[in-house]
Formats: sequence, C-alpha cells, structure tokens
Amino acid sequence: MFTEIHNTIEDIVFAQVTEVGDSIERSKNGELCTCHQCRIDTACYVLNRIEPHYISSNRGVARVEQATIARQQKVAEIVSLIYEGIRQVNHNRRPFIDHGSRNVDPEMVLNTPIFNIPIIIGRVFNGLNFEPLPEAKVELFQNGDIAVMKDAAWQNPFMIVPNTEGTFTFWPTSIPAEATAINKIFEFSVKVEAPNLETLTHVFKIPVTSEMQTADAYFRKRSFKLPNLHLFPEDGEDEF
Ligand SMILES: [Zn+2]
Repeated sequence: MFTEIHNTIEDIVFAQVTEVGDSIERSKNGELCTCHQCRIDTACYVLNRIEPHYISSNRGVARVEQATIARQQKVAEIVSLIYEGIRQVNHNRRPFIDHGSRNVDPEMVLNTPIFNIPIIIGRVFNGLNFEPLPEAKVELFQNGDIAVMKDAAWQNPFMIVPNTEGTFTFWPTSIPAEATAINKIFEFSVKVEAPNLETLTHVFKIPVTSEMQTADAYFRKRSFKLPNLHLFPEDGEDEF
C-alpha cells in the first residue's frame, strides 16, 4: 500500500543531498561530516520541513527530469534547507555510528544482478502525546534474523537519540539475483524498544525489481517510508 504512491520531493532531496555532500567532500571542508548517516539525517531534516508532492509510482522514473521554473525554485529552497540541515545534523552528531566511513563500499561487485533494497526510513512516536521518541532501540529483521546492513556506516540495531525527531534508517545489503528485471517481494520487520513503553513489532513487505549493480545504482538511493509507529505505555494496551 505504501509503495504505490511516491513523493517526488524525495528524489530531488536525495539527489541534492548527494550533490551537496559530494561537493563538501571535494572542498575538503573537514568540519562538516558527510557520511551516509549524516546525509540521511540531513535528508530527513529537509523532508520534514518541506511539503511532499505525491504521484502514483507507475508513472516511471523519468518524472524527476522534468525541468520547470517551479521545480527550480523548489530545488533552490531544498538546497538552502540542505545546508541548514547539514549544520544542524553535525551540531547534534549521532553517537554509536562510524562517521569516518567513506561513502562508497569498496567491496561492491560491479555488473552483477542484484536486488537493491531501498533505504528504509521510519519514525517512532509516543502514542499518548504524539511526541517523537527521544530514545529507542530499533532492530530490523529479515526472515527472523537481524538484517545485514549495506556497510559499516549503517547500524542495526539503530539507536534513536534526542534531536533527531524519532527518525530511524536502515539500508539492508543487496541480495544477489539470477538476472535483472525479476520482481520479488521481501518481508521485513522492525522491533522498537523504548523505556517504559510496550515493545512494538511492525511487519512489512518491500517489492524490489532486480537490476545490474553499478556505481550509479548505488548512489541512486531509493527510500521506502514506513508509516509512523506509535508506542504506548506498558500497562495501557487495552485502551487503544
Ligand atoms: Zn556523519
């Protein structure tokens, strides 16, 4: 249900975060971290502050290429939010993750068919007051096992810390495919644990079409947004 519509603003934000992040890296501005997680946190910062634009996803990938004056104004607005976001994210830099990891996986095997699982993004809230959870442990499972991440810059379990608006992200490792253009559905679940709240498990499916592993595909990050998850106090379960 959640994959049939697509927020085109996400495509622009991810593309621009990549561009801005890469240009900061090239400028060797050592003060700003542009690792995977800081880029994702920056993208979430922007996406939470800008109006989404939804289309039904069967309209193809070329949609982002349409150049209009409205879009260019949107891009300018997004880029300025990205710079604001990168500074905020760096100001509240996440503990527990390896910020030093480069943005390319050196182990990546090119030109083999793979299922490139999208980045999974979700948010956790306190169900009583709708505030984002300031701390929580989020784990991603696939077939009952803890899901393996794309590289060391991605954490599983993911620890939610204050000031990141309850956002968690995972990028599961790609799965080898026999050929390209095979459609397959992958089942995952997230388990969220937070102090004094009842543990929540959410099961979901992601349809993926296999493709050739290329550096371009690696950077063309797709995202899969989960519905907001709400946790309730341990003894209040039957009220809802
Ligand atoms: Zn970082």
